[in-house]
Amino acid sequence: VAKPDPILVADGVVRRFGGLTAVDVKHFEVQRNTITALIGPNGAGKSTFFNLLTSFDTAQEGSGTFDGDPLRKVSPHKVARSGMVRTFQLTKALEGMSVMDNMRLGAQHQPGESLLTAFVPPLWSKREREVTEQAHDLLHRFKLYAKRDDSAGSLSGGQRKLLEMARALMSKPKMVMLDEPMAGVNPALTESLLEHIVELKHEGMTVLFVEHDMHMVRRISDWVAVMAQGQLIAEGPAGTVMQNKAVQDAYLGE
Ligand code: ADP
Ligand code: MG
Repeated sequence: VAKPDPILVADGVVRRFGGLTAVDVKHFEVQRNTITALIGPNGAGKSTFFNLLTSFDTAQEGSGTFDGDPLRKVSPHKVARSGMVRTFQLTKALEGMSVMDNMRLGAQHQPGESLLTAFVPPLWSKREREVTEQAHDLLHRFKLYAKRDDSAGSLSGGQRKLLEMARALMSKPKMVMLDEPMAGVNPALTESLLEHIVELKHEGMTVLFVEHDMHMVRRISDWVAVMAQGQLIAEGPAGTVMQNKAVQDAYLGE
């Protein structure tokens, strides 16, 4: 077993909505260059916790670090620039844009992206070429290149998920966060999404993904953390954690 080397650490994270405590996580770590799955039944608090970790929502209590730096309430742009990126569902506005323009938007969170490069034309054109090249490479890899000029709204459900992942990679992240990347995707594309996630790890990235279906995570996850009723109730390697009685009980009655 490798020495622990967490890229993400969270402590004492509490999020309440009125009288409901949606998240109450004492301690959570994601080890560098692993695939970690956060699973749990519907309403367990997975998405809420995910939003807290990615600064899309603010905890009432808690602290954490990403890659050694404190996680605080900063804009999602700044979080992306620090090397953590999450996928976004295609909104109505993004659906109206071409696949390629969606990719360009993903590049806006790149570490090198500054006001300077945005306003100095010679740098801009060099940067523009790099972004275009990178987008083309990713679109080839995700088998979306032929669709580059189509509107994102014309893609199938599975292709949208691929685009969401490809767009996130435009920011050259250290860590990729995915909320239910396989939801609503047909089995053939699920397989290819799983392969893409494994590839990210092989390229040195860390992956945290939220998934409701506990069988989906089994094959690709190095570590599985299980939430129920806002709390982390178990964690461990995929094979063992799913044998856990508390985990099976949490999923019963779904
Ligand atoms: P999961 O992603 O595991 O299915 P969620 O994080 O979406 O669970 O929800 C956890 C709990 O918090 C649920 O009871 C849900 O109804 C509640 N909740 C989530 N977001 C809000 C919100 N913005 N306002 C009020 N309650 C919320
Ligand atoms: Mg959810």
